[in-house]
Amino acid sequence: MKIQKSFKQDKASLYLVATPIGNLSDMSPRAIEVLKSVDIIAAEDTRHTKKLCHYFEIETALTSYHEHNKDSKGNYILQLLMQGKEVALVSDAGLPCISDPGYEIVSQVSDEGYAVIPIPGANAALSALIASGIVPQPFIFYGFLNRDKKKKKKELTDLRYQGFTLIFYESPHRISDTLNAMLEIFGDRRIAIARELTKQYEEFIRGQVSEIIPIASDLRGELVIIVEGSKDSPEEVIWWEHLEMEQHVEHYVAQGLTTNESIKKVAKERGVAKNEVYRAYHID
Ligand code: SAM
Repeated sequence: MKIQKSFKQDKASLYLVATPIGNLSDMSPRAIEVLKSVDIIAAEDTRHTKKLCHYFEIETALTSYHEHNKDSKGNYILQLLMQGKEVALVSDAGLPCISDPGYEIVSQVSDEGYAVIPIPGANAALSALIASGIVPQPFIFYGFLNRDKKKKKKELTDLRYQGFTLIFYESPHRISDTLNAMLEIFGDRRIAIARELTKQYEEFIRGQVSEIIPIASDLRGELVIIVEGSKDSPEEVIWWEHLEMEQHVEHYVAQGLTTNESIKKVAKERGVAKNEVYRAYHID
């Protein structure tokens, strides 16, 4: 066990600093203060962050930290902390670690006993969720689905009976395909799409997934999809739908029920007469 007292320790810290998701006014005074005061800012894209720093007159040195250099840069950041240097991590937009780089360095640094301090701010998922009109909790933040269509369908199938509200990030290139896959696998659920949050063309499209599919290919910009949770419980899954009637009976016989009890149960589940099941099992 490790307990972090964020503001009562004498070692250097790693700050996870939220940056705007479109509207620069969402940059908090605390975020600016931290970025000014640290020794170095590790940024997903230094060119992008340079512009942000320029706007807020932040002159701190930048280094890159992204998906492709996270192992070597993780060790470098750890060394800086060991030397007593304060480090801030930012991504291109919103919260670091949320569908963005950061998790590995947080885990590495906290394992080594350094404090990891969040500086909250803009986040696309929660901003979309609270204005979606869909029950906000409990929710599952899923992030991006797999780009591969087969893998995406498998992921959606795994979520099919999840009763929690679901939050996805999606690109405009894949939104049509994703909504069609949702309709096929989830059924016609209520969804909300939040587009271009905090920007001039911010838009919320709320409705049944079947209503939104016809306009999906026109959606541009950055998108979040909020999907209402399943109302079906897994017990209502028709697990036997691919079985022949006699196989269905055999299933219960194998579980220890008598033939008669099994026939009765199958008739009830299928909503058919007992003698129909009897005939299928004993005669056909
Ligand atoms: N770390 C970010 C956060 O905290 O929200 C998310 C980064 S992820 C790489 C980028 C995705 O977030 C986009 O493809 C989109 O799905 C969503 N996103 C980011 N900014 C957005 C915005 N202004 N409006 C709608 N969605 C946005």
